[in-house]
Amino acid sequence: MSTYNIIKMQKKLKKYVDEMRYIHTQGVMYTAAALAMCYGADIEKAQVAGLLHDCAKCIPNAKKLKLCRQYNIPVSDVESNSPYLLHASLGAYIAREKYHVKDPEILSAIACHTTGKPAMTMLEKIIFISDYIEPMRSKAPNLERIRSLAFSDIDYAVFTTLRDTLIYLENEKACLDNQTVVAYNYYKELMEEEDA
Ligand code: FE
Ligand code: FE
Repeated sequence: MSTYNIIKMQKKLKKYVDEMRYIHTQGVMYTAAALAMCYGADIEKAQVAGLLHDCAKCIPNAKKLKLCRQYNIPVSDVESNSPYLLHASLGAYIAREKYHVKDPEILSAIACHTTGKPAMTMLEKIIFISDYIEPMRSKAPNLERIRSLAFSDIDYAVFTTLRDTLIYLENEKACLDNQTVVAYNYYKELMEEEDA
């Protein structure tokens, strides 16, 4: 017996995101399911987290800020300058309140999918990586390599993704959430330990 009605969740989600976002979300859902199979994680949790990870993405930025204030979701300085970052924490809230997902593992995977964080659980890593490698993605450097690494050495895939993300944000002079740096430093050290 499955715990979640994924078909029903999909129908609902479709009303709140645009078509491109919905297609991306499907890609993340199936990629996450495949990675869960690969690593013996819970397939259904991976599907639900993948499906809902961007459920708040299409809310206009001003409304994101307003909702966070309304729901008492903390907003950092970086987030108030780049409200799109809030779609992760706001998404976790909406998944709980509007899609009735009570599982803390799923909710935290949604909450940290944009920046990553140190010592992620397998489900958190699966969603973080799936978001980066799902089949509709095409622009990131090293994508082929990371796609393959994801299924053979997920920690190394996470490390490479964080590294490339930091390089990208630096080049774009885009706003950088310190959480990404903290996550990168953790996985960099982990890779060095493995090498030693
Ligand atoms: Fe996202
Ligand atoms: Fe996404």
